[in-house]
Amino acid sequence: MIYLDHAASTPTDAKVLSAMKPYFLHTFANPSSLYSLGVKAKNAIEESRKKIADILSAQPDTIYFTSGATESNNLAIIGSTWTAQSQGKHIITTKIEHDSVLRGVQELEKNCGFKVTYLETDENGLVNVDEFKAALRPDTVLVSVMYANNEIGTIEPIAEIGREILKWRKNHNTVYPYFHCDAAQAPNYLDIQVEKLHVDLMTFNGSKIYGPKGVGVLYKRRSIKMQPQSYGGRQEKGVRAGTENVPGIVGFSKALEIVQKNREKKSIEMAKLRDYFWQKMQKQISNIELNGPEIALLRPKAGTRNDSFDRLPSNLNIYFKDVEAEALVLYLDSYGIFVSAGSACSTESNEPSHVLKAIGCSDERANSSIRLSLGKDTTKKDIDEVMKYLPKIIAELRKIKIYE
Ligand code: PLP
Repeated sequence: MIYLDHAASTPTDAKVLSAMKPYFLHTFANPSSLYSLGVKAKNAIEESRKKIADILSAQPDTIYFTSGATESNNLAIIGSTWTAQSQGKHIITTKIEHDSVLRGVQELEKNCGFKVTYLETDENGLVNVDEFKAALRPDTVLVSVMYANNEIGTIEPIAEIGREILKWRKNHNTVYPYFHCDAAQAPNYLDIQVEKLHVDLMTFNGSKIYGPKGVGVLYKRRSIKMQPQSYGGRQEKGVRAGTENVPGIVGFSKALEIVQKNREKKSIEMAKLRDYFWQKMQKQISNIELNGPEIALLRPKAGTRNDSFDRLPSNLNIYFKDVEAEALVLYLDSYGIFVSAGSACSTESNEPSHVLKAIGCSDERANSSIRLSLGKDTTKKDIDEVMKYLPKIIAELRKIKIYE
């Protein structure tokens, strides 16, 4: 099996699994219980919260545990604008956000009277900071821009946008807009310290960082008032009701610790491997093009400073002319090779990817593009193995005319 869909889900790191195991088998008590086994579980949550806060250079009471990035995004967007709406009902986001952001703001637009500016991006998926500045209005209460795009890997200028928001607030003597950033795809490669990025709300997901599924984090600056989106117990300071996923939380903190410790070294190694893959594809397959930013290979100082990349080092999104992407995914599957046509979450919609459409791809190009996302254990041997079959598979599929 060669798994090249790490942007959709990562395998759980063995060290993460070991850290979680005692909380399934021994310390399984409800963390709200008064007796010592419950207190032990509660302590594990608080230790994890502290560990995560340290990595983010934040305070432990700004870390909220959720069930994943979707819930964190929904909570951030709906929970923060709910309390801010008396001050204004305008939101700025981008056309290439994940559906868990877009559907959230669309809900506010349709049913709660909010106005939303969806920023265009350039052909690489990059938000223009001047266009962002021009979109700011006195009634803007929330800005939501993702850190790294899940389909084409574009890394957005979050710190720059954050600085503009700080300036705006100072000049207008206001605490608005809040700045939310969906960082689900970021921790394996990028710096996630909140004060450097000037974010107020930031989303993370266990399943993208070699941690468990079903657990996420929302960082929320202390000053932001949040309307809960679930009601029940008083867990997570009343913002998110429901018994905490103790093994998941412990696993998340371990996973985040590991990926952040290794991120610079891994980014450089992975960018080299990804560039090798792309180079080989270009040599062996005709009529293919990259969707999204050019890769590090083509830069003067390729791979020397991780944070100067504007594409995740794991990501390739490739247009194979005259090939139906879904057929390619299934063909590769029959060889034990797993890749993605569009993002995993949109495979049920049958619509061409909204991200590829937003960067100017035609329906034909979007439906003939696949995403390959490398992981920490992907090897050169894996790439060579894929390249043994890929040119032949593409040639076969091109014999089938899909667009007459
Ligand atoms: N945001 C981004 C950028 C993502 O890539 C994903 C998952 O693909 C999500 C949010 C949603 O994550 P989940 O479905 O695990 O809640």
